[in-house]
Amino acid sequence: MWEIPEGVQEILHTLERAGYEAWCVGGCVRDMLANREPEDWDVATSALPEETMAVFEGRAAPTGLKHGTVTVRTGDRPVEITTYRVDGEYCDHRRPETVSFTRSLEEDLARRDFTFNAMALNLRRELRDPFDGRGDLERGVLRCVGEAARRVQEDALRILRGLRFAAVLGAEIEPATAAAIRRNRALLKDIAAERIQAELTKLLRGPWAAEVLRAYPEVIGVFWPELLPMVGFDQRNIHHCYDVWEHTLHALKEAEGDPALRYAALLHDIGKPPTFTLDENGVGHFYGHASASCHLAEEMLRRLKFSNEFRERVVRLIRWHDREIPRTDRGVRRALRLLGKEELRLLLALKRADNLAQAPAYHGRQLEIRKGEAILDRLLAEDACVSLRQLAVNGNDLLDLGFRGPDVGRVLKELLNKVVDGELPNERESLLRFVIKS
Ligand code: ATP
Ligand code: MG
Repeated sequence: MWEIPEGVQEILHTLERAGYEAWCVGGCVRDMLANREPEDWDVATSALPEETMAVFEGRAAPTGLKHGTVTVRTGDRPVEITTYRVDGEYCDHRRPETVSFTRSLEEDLARRDFTFNAMALNLRRELRDPFDGRGDLERGVLRCVGEAARRVQEDALRILRGLRFAAVLGAEIEPATAAAIRRNRALLKDIAAERIQAELTKLLRGPWAAEVLRAYPEVIGVFWPELLPMVGFDQRNIHHCYDVWEHTLHALKEAEGDPALRYAALLHDIGKPPTFTLDENGVGHFYGHASASCHLAEEMLRRLKFSNEFRERVVRLIRWHDREIPRTDRGVRRALRLLGKEELRLLLALKRADNLAQAPAYHGRQLEIRKGEAILDRLLAEDACVSLRQLAVNGNDLLDLGFRGPDVGRVLKELLNKVVDGELPNERESLLRFVIKS
């Protein structure tokens, strides 16, 4: 089992020495028992916030006093210490109106969302687990603490947190919790876009994301209804052995790693239902679907308030996903110039995943993708010129030749294009000669 880090141990010790109870609680206990590295370490204590502030005088900050949270610096990390509390009435499906403090750990654990998030562990490795969270964790079951419907109505974010933990831990959502999630899904409308974005990104990072999305499309459809027409949409095309949604989920399964790649896999074919046409032979086509996907994805990512940089990257990957695989020196150099190496790798990974999610008869394309990757590796090893920075001449050279103002940039760009296209070698002499001649 994972060890409690020294800084956190010291905090537990200090609180206990001052006469209070102190426990690691929530996600870190769950992750320790599952033998995963916890993301953050939360401490719960019987000390009131001002008592905690006094115990850690000089290194405590009142970061969330209203909710009883004090953040304490330690050698290796800041740790949030929260006073045992019970939540008051929930009115808006988001946050309790009031919170009140209690000296009872059990009461604090009872306000937590899922049984495996409602455990506490202390310095002597005693476990407090009033709802058998450990058993649920071992059996791989996600279960609300208490009555599921009431718990998800109190705070609708729990709907998405539930799917997220199922996707990350591979847990089965037990029937009452699953029913509560489905029935109350519309309450997600009240949740702030930023919070949905954060949970959805964690969900997509999970190894079981595709399985969870397959089982709960209508939940994600509350904030992203554009996904729903994909479900069951028959492609009527020999390239495909799955409907659009199944194809998407298979592609998602294959597209591991980077969040931009995960989102691109989820959204790459979202423009298919609106662009579907049937020809006289009864064959389905989706002309212009990549561009339709881009428009929809752009709008969906804006709605959830993703950063411009992230959104643009996802949309670029979607735009390129249906283009020919770059697999000549020139093609790869051009793609490198426009996308950069990191994004080109993501594009090749997306192509790979997209193809593996098509009918097996077309998996021969994997070879072309591998060829593209091999060329990319070689060009990077050769430090092939794909940017102005790498060009063998610079602005000063052109100034020396008498160019002024915008002409300098224009000529440099023209030279770069020629080098990227293989029409000129990236050598100073040849480039200058070309400029003088033309
Ligand atoms: P992560 O691995 O992302 O940190 P986590 O379970 O630790 O997951 P946090 O947001 O860090 O999630 O919350 C810490 C703990 O607080 C949870 O484990 C849970 O006990 C409790 N908690 C968090 N959000 C809620 C909520 N919306 N409703 C009830 N309890 C919650
Ligand atoms: Mg946490």
